[in-house]
Amino acid sequence: MGQKIRKCKKCGKYTLKEKCPVCGEGSVPAFPARFSPRDPYGRFRRLAKRG
Ligand SMILES: [Zn+2]
Repeated sequence: MGQKIRKCKKCGKYTLKEKCPVCGEGSVPAFPARFSPRDPYGRFRRLAKRG
């Protein structure tokens, strides 16, 4: 207990590590506590797409 479940933001794989073991993408907490999951990561994605 006490382990934080995370989820890969690329392929959706659940993991306990900060990086997805499948695709190597960064993972995000599966159950975000204080912040909206849409806001921080959604912004990053849009900025990344712009280049
Ligand atoms: Zn992944």
